[in-house]
Amino acid sequence: MITVSGRSVCSGVSFGPVFVFSREESTIKRHHIESSDDEIARFEAARKQAIDELGTLYRKAINEVGEANAMIFQIHQMMLEDLDYIEAIKNIITDQLINAETAVGQTCDNFVQMFRAMDDSYMRERSADVKDVSERLIKILSGRDNGAIISDKPVIVVADDLVPSETVQFDKSKILAFVTESGATNSHTSILARMMNIPAVIGAKGVLNKDFHGKQAIIDGSEGILYIDPDEATVKKMTEKKKDIENRAKALECLKGLKSITKDGYQIELCANITNVLDIESVIKNDAEGIGLFRSEFLYLENVNYPSEETQFGAYKEVLSRMQGKRVVIRTLDIGADKNAAYFHMPQEGNPALGIRAVRICIRQKDIFKTQLRALYRASVFGRLAIMFPMIASEWEVLKILEIIDEVKKELTAEKVEFSDNIELGCMIETPSAAVISDILSKHLDFFSIGTNDLTQYTLAADRQNPDIGEFYDIRHISVLRLIDTVIKNAHKNNTWVGICGEASSDEELIELFLAMGIDELSVTPSAVLSVRKKITETSVSEIKDNVLGRYLNF
Ligand code: PEP
Ligand code: MG
Repeated sequence: MITVSGRSVCSGVSFGPVFVFSREESTIKRHHIESSDDEIARFEAARKQAIDELGTLYRKAINEVGEANAMIFQIHQMMLEDLDYIEAIKNIITDQLINAETAVGQTCDNFVQMFRAMDDSYMRERSADVKDVSERLIKILSGRDNGAIISDKPVIVVADDLVPSETVQFDKSKILAFVTESGATNSHTSILARMMNIPAVIGAKGVLNKDFHGKQAIIDGSEGILYIDPDEATVKKMTEKKKDIENRAKALECLKGLKSITKDGYQIELCANITNVLDIESVIKNDAEGIGLFRSEFLYLENVNYPSEETQFGAYKEVLSRMQGKRVVIRTLDIGADKNAAYFHMPQEGNPALGIRAVRICIRQKDIFKTQLRALYRASVFGRLAIMFPMIASEWEVLKILEIIDEVKKELTAEKVEFSDNIELGCMIETPSAAVISDILSKHLDFFSIGTNDLTQYTLAADRQNPDIGEFYDIRHISVLRLIDTVIKNAHKNNTWVGICGEASSDEELIELFLAMGIDELSVTPSAVLSVRKKITETSVSEIKDNVLGRYLNF
């Protein structure tokens, strides 16, 4: 038995084979070929395989994200049937006697340039699709996998680190756990593991070993240990631990249908965070009272090009309809830093977490923002929508956003498109600046949601993505907690409600403090809803208030 240890980011026990995920080199090696006929036959076989793969993806996507979102795979299939594209590749192979990978790469570059030079914005956007289908062909030709987990059975995924644009490609039903060499507790991949409620361990040095691929293993999420080729005693111990965890989860079921109310009658709204439409299943199963954070940027990360207004409308409509009148807070695009989609063509930045991201992109590239706002406003008639803006630092940003919203509303009205006149507007409080001026911001907005993941990062100047930052990134730091307290006080002076949607919202110890501060809402990962409700119902605010405020805030 081999034991590899790291830090726990999500507890739980899973048994299964190890899948070592490694990124393949994407450079194409050009070489001379003897027979163009053989090379064209190789290209044709790859093209057929790519069309088949896209068909499979299309059928899978229809079930998971609906027809509108699945269309992209059909468009890619059509591109692979395009005679100009096929001829261009075959001509390069025949004329230059070079390998098919190089011919596809060259054709791709030519087509991308041609599309980018077009006046029509729809055609310009197709350049990303050409790149995507060409990359698929090259991967098949060079015998590389397509980045997604290729396994017909569930596996424990082992990697150096994973970024959101990779994890969104995985078939979630085939993932038992994540173990990474690197990674940080509040990175989005860790958050995703908690959303999926699967064991996850980071900082597991030495785990990325190709020899482990396919070996049977057990992961103990709470202890942060991966056992490879476990011995009998470990199998027995872990089987018992798994059963114990299942029993504890079952014991929480009796809290379903109850209010999230303290012993002394103080009620809060207990909501859930989601990243896509599929998460609703878990939200409903765990009896969340609403959605406090829909990270809409994952819609962008899941796509190979900007999701159209129609695609987004379909997703928002579905979430709102399925929540049947419960409040759904949809955060507008928070792309940037670790959440990167290639088609945004973001410039290389020295400090991307401090760069052009989230609302900064939306303010600069109004067309992207307006597409999302139109989809949101159109979907608003299907439920109780609240829209939230990420990474706000200044009052002028909120005013600018409100101006753009006005434009969108006027356009929709002129087009006679229906939308709700009851949409709440709010912002994330995740920069120290927003916390300090929360009294000013609250005059313009209906609600705040405190993003403790980023608020901690920016307050303490400690990178949440840095695996070695350790104790310097501390959500319980007095400065972070005092900022939260300031925000709640400022908001309440202006009748603005305040929630917390960062990972701290399910921190058992801090929940008492947040209740004592007067928080109105907590939004947690779906699987944590019932344990947080348990904590709330066992707390008496009047009994603990002075003690916790003194202890954490030193007032
Ligand atoms: C946060 O910063 O706390 C937050 C909820 O947003 P994200 O984790 O997506 O940055
Ligand atoms: Mg954030």
